Order: sequence, then structure tokens, then C-alpha cells
Amino acid sequence: MQFIDQAEIEVQAGNGGDGVVAFRREKYVPAGGPSGGNGGRGGSIFLKASERLQTLLDFKYARYFKADNGKRGGSNNCTGASGKDLEIEVPCGTIVYDLDREETIADLVQPSQIICIAKGGKGGLGNKCFLSNQNRAPEQALPGLDGEQYRLRLELKLLAEVGIIGLPNAGKSTLISSLSSARPKIANYPFTTLIPNLGVVRKPSGDGTVFADIPGLIAGAHAGIGLGHEFLRHIERTRLLVHLVDSTADNPLADYRIIQAELAAYGKGLSDRQQIIALNKLDAIDAELQDFLTAEFATITDSPIFAVSAVTRSGLDLLLQSIWQHLDELQEKPTAIAI
Ligand code: GDP
Ligand code: MG
Repeated sequence: MQFIDQAEIEVQAGNGGDGVVAFRREKYVPAGGPSGGNGGRGGSIFLKASERLQTLLDFKYARYFKADNGKRGGSNNCTGASGKDLEIEVPCGTIVYDLDREETIADLVQPSQIICIAKGGKGGLGNKCFLSNQNRAPEQALPGLDGEQYRLRLELKLLAEVGIIGLPNAGKSTLISSLSSARPKIANYPFTTLIPNLGVVRKPSGDGTVFADIPGLIAGAHAGIGLGHEFLRHIERTRLLVHLVDSTADNPLADYRIIQAELAAYGKGLSDRQQIIALNKLDAIDAELQDFLTAEFATITDSPIFAVSAVTRSGLDLLLQSIWQHLDELQEKPTAIAI
């Protein structure tokens, strides 16, 4: 199962500054020679792989990047200042595709790997460069060249770090929609009827984390009933599970146990995976039932327990805080690999 984050951006390198026509004007020199300087080079644009980023979330907001233009040349043979280069950070593993030429132009794998993606334009020559024996007073100078401009697609394979599990109707899809700030694409997914629901949730530190809702998890899923098995295989890759329970169900504790039993039956350490319990639909139950359920769950699990409403968003801040804290504690595992 492969999740792909995609973003389209436009990059515009700086234009070169124009060369200028100027002549020396000095005291006691009746006709000074040409002294027009060259224009400065336009700033180039670089893409740099950074371990700090795990998603392309930032590019959902900033899509247009422009480096500074070079300055015009000056009189007195002064070359114009170059435009400042622009460095854009992307997550390691980002593939860069040129939309106009329809080809892949880079695959940024190593941390700090850097490529020039759009070259700044050269500055134009000033008239001093056209001085010759035939022409002692050239009136000619060249304009700066335009910086390169490209439309690019960035692509990144993602790994879901947080899996949301729970019986159908627990509110998994609703929770993802309430939390997420972007939706990655799901590539080459073999099932058309039932696909995982993904969301990128922004961490306080700025970058995103991928959450996946694992549908189809029902009693017997480990044995291939429903499509749960495929998804169980998928949650093997997540680092943290949010176990969502419908508090309005007839027996929320029994629902919880069904899922726990499926995880245990599947094996591969899934039942040892760190879980956070979220008792959902808090808005639809009274405080008494909420307290009762919280207390009951506390007797059967050591996992942290939160009461939330995916619909009204109450309790989601505390739930997220706990998720970030646990992910930080589980930090050492890699987060962006192909699956
Ligand atoms: P999923 O099967 O786990 O993905 O569950 P859904 O997100 O599709 O939600 C199932 C139903 O529960 C939908 O009708 C939701 O509107 C409802 N639901 C989800 N979260 C809440 C909640 O916090 N409060 C209430 N009252 N209903 C909710
Ligand atoms: Mg759903």
C-alpha cells in the first residue's frame, strides 16, 4: 500500500541585471572611454533535502517561489549586485518532476543533498565590454537574461505513523477529517471499494504526521473476513495506534475487546503497539456515562484514555498532545519509507 503526497509548485529564478551604457567623465579628460558595468546575475533556486520535514504539507500553502533579480550595472565599470539565491527545503525522498517537459529531473534522497532547479539569468554586458579599436565609444550594452522558470510536481512516498483503529461506525473517518490539514493520495491501491482514509495532521513544530484510518476491522479480520487483513498488514508499519471506541454503543468495552482480540490473533506484535484510547461521541452521552466508561476502561487497560467528540472537536487538543508526546518518545524509528 503506497501513500503519496503531491504538490505542484512554480519556481522562477531571478533575471540578470541589464548592462549599462556610460562614459567616464573626469576632470581634464575631454572624452572618457566607456565605463558601463555589467548587470548582476539573477538568483538561482535550489532544492535541498532535509530530515526536518516528513511531508509536503508546506507546499499546500506556498506554491510560488521566486529568487531575486540581479541589479543593473553601474557607471565607473561597476558590476551590478547578484540576486540572492533561494534554497527550498523538501523532505528526504522527494521526487521532482518537470510538468512541462514531462520528465523526472531529480530524486532527493540523502539529507542535505542539494540541486539547482532553476538557474538565475546572466547579467547583460555593459558598454565597456564593446570597446574596440574600431569603436572607441560604444553605445551598446546588453539586457540581462531571464531566469529559468519551471512548473514542478513534487512527490513523496509517505508512511502513516498513526493508525486509527476501531469498529465500523466508531467515528474514525470523522476524526481524521476533523484533525487533518491535508489529504495525501493513495497510489496503486488494489481495492476500489474500501480504501484507507488518510490525513496529514500538523504538529506544533510545524511539519505534518500522516494518520491513517484503518477501515474494515471487524471480528474475524485477522482470518481474512472483510478486508481487514490487508489493513492489519498496513498497521504493522504505524508507530502508534489510536483506538477509537463509540461511547454510544451498547457495550463499548466489548467493542474494544473485539479489536484487541483481532490484533492479538494477527500477531506480529500488533497488540504490543502503543495505544491511546479515545472514547468518542462524548457529545451524545451524559457526563455520568462518560465517567463510568472512563473508569471501566481504566480497569482493563494501562493505555491513556481520552473522552473526545470527533464532531464537536471537544477533547481533540488533549488527545493530540498525547499523540505528539508518545511519538516523540518513539522517535528513533524511520518515518518516510516506501511501503
Ligand atoms: P467509521 O466507520 O469509524 O469511519 O465512522 P464514521 O466516521 O463514518 O462515523 C460513523 C457515524 O458516527 C457517522 O454518522 C458520524 O457522523 C457519527 N459520529 C462520528 N463521530 C461522532 C461524534 O463525535 N459524535 C457524534 N454524535 N457522532 C459521531
Ligand atoms: Mg470510515
